[in-house]
Amino acid sequence: MNEVDFIQSLAAQHGASKHPQVVLGIGDDAGILRLRDSRDVVLTTDILTEGVDFTFPEADPFSVGRKALAVNLSDMAAMACRPVAALVGLVIPQTIREGGLAGITESIMEGIATLANTWSVALLGGDTNSWAMPQGTVISITIVGEPFPGIRPVTRSGAKPGDILLVTGTLGGSIYGKQFHFTPRLREAEILARSTNITAMIDLSDGLAKDARHIATASDVQIQIDAAALPLAAAAGHDWKRALTDGEDFELCFTCAPDAAASLLQEQPLAPLLITKIGKIETKSGSGSPLHIKHPDGQVEQLNLSGYEHQWSEA
Ligand SMILES: [Mg+2]
Repeated sequence: MNEVDFIQSLAAQHGASKHPQVVLGIGDDAGILRLRDSRDVVLTTDILTEGVDFTFPEADPFSVGRKALAVNLSDMAAMACRPVAALVGLVIPQTIREGGLAGITESIMEGIATLANTWSVALLGGDTNSWAMPQGTVISITIVGEPFPGIRPVTRSGAKPGDILLVTGTLGGSIYGKQFHFTPRLREAEILARSTNITAMIDLSDGLAKDARHIATASDVQIQIDAAALPLAAAAGHDWKRALTDGEDFELCFTCAPDAAASLLQEQPLAPLLITKIGKIETKSGSGSPLHIKHPDGQVEQLNLSGYEHQWSEA
């Protein structure tokens, strides 16, 4: 079972959508809870594990701590919501950290605290523990946020046929450095949501091919990405496939009506950060993959994710 299927089965079995105070349940970048005074609280958790998301000693603990918070802030940005506070869970293995345990824990917490300070996010609490399993360090952060005043949270499910697909910044090659030093697009998300009727949004964590697919599935539409239009980061070389698959770009991918997209593209309200049109939303046709790629030669290919990974990982 892959992660998407697992989350869908979780949502089906344990989804709190029937709870009267749940506004948005499992399956988006964050969940939304309505308190009894009618205010909404936005919540999301992300976990980083050593060996998968980072490796010591190649990565320094400060940067790892920073990233652990940054990925959560990026999820808040994807909802166009404002982070307020964070809860940190930190687990360090006893065996391999003897002697250096305090130093690593302190550096990770420093990385978290420094970024929290930048965004006026309160470190509200959490838990630190060690474990007897030698596999590595685990950092879990939960963010508590709220909608920006006057802005409705943006979900993944509002894209409509005819909408345009856009992205902030450049894509690909994040592994060469950006993955640890990216700026969560909180300000940009607020500016976009204030100026434009954004119909759907997601942050690019798993790679455009997977993340755009999340929008397509949640919105029950089909998405066509124009390979020739993808804004490539210098670190991606000239390989547009890297923009689709590399992951950890932590840029915003969003949809809006064509006239709204035309204004954004002309006015570029996030300058010097560029907004680029990378595709369009279509009515779903058939039961195949909802993601289609228009190759630079004009040929359109239905992108079946597993086939795609197989096909291009060997290239
Ligand atoms: Mg996300």
